[in-house]
Amino acid sequence: MYPDERRILMTPGPVVFSVDTLRFMASTVYEHTSPDFALIHGDAIRRFRVVIGAPSGAPVFILPGSGTLAMEVALVNVVKPGSRVLVLSHGFFGDRWAEIAKAHGYSVTTLSSELGEVVGLEAVVEELSKGGYEALLVTHVETSTGVRADIEKLAGIARRFDVTLLVDGVSSVAAEPINCGSWGVDVIVTASQKALETPPGLALIALCTERAVEAYERYSASVKSYYARLNLWAKVMEAYERGEVAYFATPSTHLVVALAKSLEKILAEGLERRFRRHALLAKAIRAGLRGMGLEVVARREEIAASTVTAALLPEGVNPLDVRKAMMNGNIVIALPIHPALRGRSIRIGHMGSVNHNDVIATIALLERVLKRLGAPIELGRGLEEAQRVLYEEGL
Ligand code: PMP
Repeated sequence: MYPDERRILMTPGPVVFSVDTLRFMASTVYEHTSPDFALIHGDAIRRFRVVIGAPSGAPVFILPGSGTLAMEVALVNVVKPGSRVLVLSHGFFGDRWAEIAKAHGYSVTTLSSELGEVVGLEAVVEELSKGGYEALLVTHVETSTGVRADIEKLAGIARRFDVTLLVDGVSSVAAEPINCGSWGVDVIVTASQKALETPPGLALIALCTERAVEAYERYSASVKSYYARLNLWAKVMEAYERGEVAYFATPSTHLVVALAKSLEKILAEGLERRFRRHALLAKAIRAGLRGMGLEVVARREEIAASTVTAALLPEGVNPLDVRKAMMNGNIVIALPIHPALRGRSIRIGHMGSVNHNDVIATIALLERVLKRLGAPIELGRGLEEAQRVLYEEGL
């Protein structure tokens, strides 16, 4: 049986796309060398820059692919081959940075945080002080634990030690504040299927600083993958932005069209408002989870992400059973992916168009599901706490 169309998706990507976006995407078939498509692609690039606070004219690349591709392509195009890189890992996706860098022959040092924590800034300073590093790779929101790194401060540290900062913004862009221009973040990568509210399949890369552009000009042409050479894509991206057509490899036309529309809606909501909405809903989710007696994995409120929350389940409750029962109740939540959290936790995504009704429905169903699975839950305790947050914030 196919899913009920009223099923609520509380996963950390893919997320629900708006009907407007789907309709616009389905309205016609755009041919990739048509002026119409060039115009839409140009809009997508310009709007994306605004969302991440990139300077006008900062090179943006929209490639067919997922977030992992964006990480990999960005890395090999801006970081000197074979050089030393420092990875800050707060979980599964931080480790992915390290794996990608190793796969490409970089010399990798990883500073890993405790579960539910982020690497301390002093530790980063201490490691970079040893010298010899070319780049610092970090995940903005670690989707496996629900923690958020302080990218603004890390950018300051990167400047001080003259290393290139690459930020994985897959689970943050368009939901968490990020201002790569004024913060001095060299490179941001993301993917379409999360807070950008677009179907999966686009890898986005932005080179936000002079430093990033210079590095890309130096290394791009000799990247050992033809498809991944951003200098070859640049001509197409630049042409589209001028409203002109060009060809390197066929873009994901429908997805780009969807992205342009979704970005228009995101900007119409207003970025500040959107960031506040995400922060508030996340706070309500955490309050609800704690209210019913669950432990939120993010150890401090200041580092708890606005887009995804991981929580430990009561002893003896299996995440697979919880997910299945939730799904039967028409709400989809995610299973754990962090090795230390497998078998004992769940993840709830709350990004994109998620609203206060979704939050209440999720907390309410989770209480019933856990109680039915034998956990010591008192119905209404989580709900009461989530309600309180929403009420106090005027919702
Ligand atoms: N980084 C983060 C923080 C992610 O959450 C994800 C996907 N969940 C990725 C990278 C990888 O993205 P993708 O699955 O689109 O390759």
